[in-house]
Amino acid sequence: MSKDTFETLDPENWDEMRELAHRMVEDAFDYIQSCGDRPVWTPVPDEVSERLKGAAPTGPSAPAEVYEEFLANIMPYNLHTNHPRFWAWYMGSGTVMGAMADFLAAMLNPNVGGINHVAPRVEQQVISWLNEMLGFPASASGLLTSGASMANFTALTVARNANSGYDARREGVLAAPGPLTAYASTEIHSCNQKAVETLGLGSQGLRKVPVNDDYTIDLDALRAQVEADREGGMIPFCVIATAGTINTGAIDDMEAIADFCDEEGLWFHVDGAIGAVAVLADNVRPLLKGMERADSIALDLHKWMHIPFEAGCVIVRDAPTHSDSFSLVPEYLQRDVEGGGMASGKIWFSDYGLQLTRQFRALKVWMSIKEHGLDRFGRMIARNVEQAHYLGDLIKASPELELAAPIGLDIVCFRYNPGGMDPESLNALNRELLVKLQTGGIAAPSYTTLHGNYCLRAAISNHRSRYEDFDLMVEEVIRLGRQLS
Ligand SMILES: *Cc1c(COP(=O)(O)O)cnc(C)c1O
Repeated sequence: MSKDTFETLDPENWDEMRELAHRMVEDAFDYIQSCGDRPVWTPVPDEVSERLKGAAPTGPSAPAEVYEEFLANIMPYNLHTNHPRFWAWYMGSGTVMGAMADFLAAMLNPNVGGINHVAPRVEQQVISWLNEMLGFPASASGLLTSGASMANFTALTVARNANSGYDARREGVLAAPGPLTAYASTEIHSCNQKAVETLGLGSQGLRKVPVNDDYTIDLDALRAQVEADREGGMIPFCVIATAGTINTGAIDDMEAIADFCDEEGLWFHVDGAIGAVAVLADNVRPLLKGMERADSIALDLHKWMHIPFEAGCVIVRDAPTHSDSFSLVPEYLQRDVEGGGMASGKIWFSDYGLQLTRQFRALKVWMSIKEHGLDRFGRMIARNVEQAHYLGDLIKASPELELAAPIGLDIVCFRYNPGGMDPESLNALNRELLVKLQTGGIAAPSYTTLHGNYCLRAAISNHRSRYEDFDLMVEEVIRLGRQLS
C-alpha cells in the first residue's frame, strides 16, 4: 500500500474537517446563546425515533452528512437543561468553558487512571481546591466520578471495609459477625440504597429512619434504631447524612450526627450531591456546619456548580483508608516511582475507585473554576436560594396556590389548590397541569409526592433564571389550573 492510501481513522480531508469543526462551534454557540427563546421541552417526534433505530452502517459517510443528521435529528430534541426555566429533577445548566474543555479533553485524550503525565496533576489540584472549600484536611484523598451515585458508592465501600470490625474486603460479607447496617433518613437518595445492595448488604442493610416535619432525620429515632439493631445482633457501621435532600432540599443536622457517630464509633458519610457546594454561598454556609467533620463526602459538580455532565467527586478524610479499599496492582500496572519513565507517576487514581481507564473530566472543572472563580459560583448558588423564596412568596400570595413543604435550599414544592376538591382529583389535576406546562414549552418543574399529595417541584439550580421567569411560571400555573378545574 502506498503512503497516501494508508487507511486510518483520521479525516480524509483535514481542511474540510477543520471547516466543519468551525461550523459546529458556530452552531453550538448559536444554540446556547438562544437557549431561552425555544420551548423548554420539545418531545421527540415518532419519525425521529424511528430513524434512530436503524442498523449500524458498514461503510463510510461524508463527515458533513453525519453532522447534518445531528442538526436535523438530535439537536432540536435535546433535553434543554440550559433553558432559564428548566427546573426539573435536579440538574445544572452547564458552562460554556466547561463544554469547550470537554472538547479539548477529548482531543488530548489522556488516560487519567495513573501514569506520569500532566492530567492527574490537574485532577489532584481540583481535588485540593474542593478539599479546602469543604474544610477537609489537605491530606484527604479524592476522586472525580461520573456523579454522586458513584461517589456515594465509592465512599460506602470504604465505610463498609473500614468500619465493620473485620476484614470485609478479604473475607466478604458472608464472614460478617452479623448483618451490616447503614443508617439514613427516609428521604435518602435511591442511589445509596443501590450502593448498599450492590455491596452485598441487601436493601435491609440500609435502615431508613423517620424524619421531622422539616424532612431532616429524627435524631432520637436514629439513636433508638441503632440501639435496637445492636441488641438484635446487627453491626451498624455508618450513618449517611444528607446535605440537601432530593425531595425538599432538607439539610440533616450535621453537627449532631457527627457527635453521634463519634460516640457510637460509626462512619460519618455525607451525601452532599446537592448542598455540599453551597458552602460557597453566604446564605447557606452556616446550615452546613459539621459537614467538615465527615469521614467521607460525596458531591456533585454537575448540579449546583453547573459543570457539564458528568462530574461528581468523592472525598475521604483518611487517604490510606480510601486506597485500602481499591488499590490492586498487578505486574502490568506496577509503578516505578524512582525510574523516571512513564511509570514513575505518583498519582494513580485507579487506587481510589473502581475504574482503571478514566477520562480527563478534571479539565472542564479546572477551566470553569479558573474562569469564574469560586466566589461567582457562590453568588449563583445564593441567588437561586433567594429565587426559591421569591417563588415561595408568589405562591403564598396566590390564594389558589399552596406550598407543599418548607423551602429547602433551592427546592420549592407546591400545587394548585382552588379548594373544595377531594384529594384524588386534586392530585390528578396537578399531574395534568404539569404535563400541560411542559408540553406547552413554558417551564419545566418536575414533581414529587409528599404525604400523599402530588405536587410540582421546582429545583432552581440554574444560573440563567431571572426573577421574571418565576412570575411567568406562576401566572401560567394559575391559568392552567383554572382551565382544568
Ligand atoms: C442527584 C443526587 C444523587 C445522585 O447523583 P448523580 O450525580 O445523579 O449520580 C445522590 N444524592 C442526592 C441527594 C442527589 O440529589
